[in-house]
Amino acid sequence: MRILGAGPAGLAAALTLARAGRAVEVFERRGEVGGRFGGDLQALENWSDAEDVRDELRRMEIAPDFECHPFHAIVETNGRRSAALSFARPVIYVVKRGAVPGSLDQGLMRQALEAGAVMHFGRTLPPADADIVATGPVAGRVFAVAQGIVFDTAAADRAVGLLHDAAALKGYSYLVVVRGYGCLCTVMFDDFPGVHARFERAQAMLLERFAVPVANPRRVGGVGHFSNRNEFRRGRALYVGEAAGLQDLLWGFGIRIALRSGWLAARCLLDGRDYAREAAVQFVGRLKASIVNRLLWETFRVGDYALILAALKRNGLTRLRFFYRYNWLQRLLYPPARRILRRRYPDLRL
Ligand SMILES: Cc1cc2nc3c(=O)[nH]c(=O)nc-3n(C[C@H](O)[C@H](O)[C@H](O)COP(=O)(O)OP(=O)(O)OC[C@H]3O[C@@H](n4cnc5c(N)ncnc54)[C@H](O)[C@@H]3O)c2cc1C
Repeated sequence: MRILGAGPAGLAAALTLARAGRAVEVFERRGEVGGRFGGDLQALENWSDAEDVRDELRRMEIAPDFECHPFHAIVETNGRRSAALSFARPVIYVVKRGAVPGSLDQGLMRQALEAGAVMHFGRTLPPADADIVATGPVAGRVFAVAQGIVFDTAAADRAVGLLHDAAALKGYSYLVVVRGYGCLCTVMFDDFPGVHARFERAQAMLLERFAVPVANPRRVGGVGHFSNRNEFRRGRALYVGEAAGLQDLLWGFGIRIALRSGWLAARCLLDGRDYAREAAVQFVGRLKASIVNRLLWETFRVGDYALILAALKRNGLTRLRFFYRYNWLQRLLYPPARRILRRRYPDLRL
């Protein structure tokens, strides 16, 4: 089995297939695993499903042998008001990304190698020659841009989200510190050339307000890709993760769906099931829901996100699950939401 791309989607597929005794080769065009990232702290979100991410990893037989820090509490602020939100079960698991020790990418690769997969770095294949294509974002269909820093710090562990258009247009900034290692990032959904200026503003707002000292800062960042005209199969090749357009148009939390799609593609190959059909059933409603959620987010961000902040304070994030289900409300809102966002973002395949 030939897999193109060694991100979470490709590696989840590789370790699943290799453990089932298949000969697996992974072709990664960069010189190392996780090369798209530089030690960024990212989050496995734990609000979109009833199943806890850790249980889902266990079900997919992915061992959490990478740094995976549960956060039961986060602070959301718009610069003026803050809401301290706490949860019975972790709301996020913070992971490291990139070719650094303890990262998700390193952990997944180790498990794939232990299962017998062979990695080819600095090499690629024509997608038509692959069984699984997991090559990440598709150029030209960028929906979100992120810029940030990672750094060393003496500050205590924390996770803070900042909702302010001057710091992150139509998106959010976040500050996460875990065991003396910090990440501060701005994630924007519009005005991509302005990301640098807004990130500077986010730094000023978050570092001063939360008194976090920064030592040895290194730049991180990147782009996300979204499409709801998804192709899960082209010829014999199965498409997974961001290569299949699987992302969350609301906030860009793509790791969980990348892992899930890679695992599903592998299981379907092993069991002789139709991945394209199963992926459409599992993922398309969720993508449509995220289109509706993006429109709601952009609409209700008025007044420095005061309404959204108040709703988060009242309901926490647990009620968010309602918005991930493609329920009756979302079915009703999907056609106008798609029309409006298509006009607003003509580059996206909505
Ligand atoms: C700055 C930033 C912050 C983010 N934060 C979060 C977060 O907090 N939580 C979250 O859930 N998601 C987050 N995301 C999104 C998440 O990182 C992605 O959705 C996820 O990594 C997608 O996984 P993937 O395996 O589909 O693709 P990728 O992780 O992009 O992996 C694709 C791999 O394929 C390789 N490749 C590409 N083309 C070829 C080719 N032709 N041949 C061979 N190899 C190729 C690439 O080098 C790469 O290693 C963030 C994204 C960015 C940019």
